[in-house]
Amino acid sequence: MKLSKRALYIASSPTLALNAEVTQLQAEGQSVINLTSGQLDFPTPTHIKKAGVKAIEDNITRYTPTAGILELREAVAKKLSKVNHVPTIPSQVVVGVGSKQLLYHAFQVLCNPGDEVILAIPTWTTYVEQIKLAGAKPKLIQLKPPFVLTAEKIKSVLSKKTKVILINSPANPTGAVIPKSELKKIAQLAVKNSLMVVTDEIYENFCFRKLSVFIASLGKQIAKQTITINGVSKAYAMTGWRVGYAVGPSEVIQKMISIQSQTTSNTSSISQMAALKALTGSQRSVKMAKERLLKRRDYLIKELSKISDLKLVEPEGAFYLFVSIKRLLGEKYKTSEEWCQALLKKESLAVVPGEAFLAPGYFRLSFAASMAELKTAVKKLRKFIEKYEN
Ligand code: PLP
Repeated sequence: MKLSKRALYIASSPTLALNAEVTQLQAEGQSVINLTSGQLDFPTPTHIKKAGVKAIEDNITRYTPTAGILELREAVAKKLSKVNHVPTIPSQVVVGVGSKQLLYHAFQVLCNPGDEVILAIPTWTTYVEQIKLAGAKPKLIQLKPPFVLTAEKIKSVLSKKTKVILINSPANPTGAVIPKSELKKIAQLAVKNSLMVVTDEIYENFCFRKLSVFIASLGKQIAKQTITINGVSKAYAMTGWRVGYAVGPSEVIQKMISIQSQTTSNTSSISQMAALKALTGSQRSVKMAKERLLKRRDYLIKELSKISDLKLVEPEGAFYLFVSIKRLLGEKYKTSEEWCQALLKKESLAVVPGEAFLAPGYFRLSFAASMAELKTAVKKLRKFIEKYEN
């Protein structure tokens, strides 16, 4: 069978694959501590679930407008205007099947074959694959700890082919947050060179020490050049409901809606009603999640810092620790992939190897897990490293 070139070069999501492997082990009866997951360990808050149930009972079970139910687009526009300080009207909003789908549509609308999209590694590899699917070229910037993308670094890889700068702050997998002063410089650079910015702000609610800053809020011109991507998955423990949104200049958003009208149509009407409740209802659960995550983060930093062979960078946001194991690689395990496989096999502890983020020599540990699980994970890690040194 002759498949398309596109089909031949697409790599599937390594984190989802690993998660599937762990789920399979668990189904076979193994008790595995799974710290690979990119989602909160709490259920969707009750008031949001009830809104979903009510939508079914009220027969809101038909197609909605492709761009999303107007009330939801209005709620997103209000949230952007009030919380993110990005003045937005509903026609600048599209609601889709998770932020992942909207990122895909954004690259489809913005990029021509041969265009370059600048992004930093370590990175969530979905970006790389989606950029390639749009026929464009990912222009990668290799960051060193503390993994903060700067305007200076972006400048060093600018070319005539550059079309888009991609930002993800707080970042997956490093938890790095770009400070306001640096975002301003990136905005100036984008405006000066007439570049579009795609900013993935899915972890905005989990920014621990500082307040999140949104690049589109930094001026009228940068707002016209920015597509803001976000959704309800991470903040409201709603990964399975599949609701994301994109906000930007109407011209771009209208084209994203056209693509959506020919691919998925609207995302689930029921999920949209639940997302509306998430955005307009009580925000207590988000505050609680952040407090719990911060406690878990601080616990892990304290405990893992005692293991001298591991090197950590304190994440400022999101819910991941990105840990260097370079000192531990060599004869026994040559790559972080082998190291993580051995950790899973010997200690039943699953973390994601850095290769999945184009950053070999590291692993990513999600602290969106219970304190009890994290305590066991620390013990297992310590045991694995001690044993292996002998
Ligand atoms: N953006 C980043 C950086 C992520 O880590 C993820 C999920 O892991 C997503 C987007 C996708 O989220 P959604 O569930 O909205 O598609």
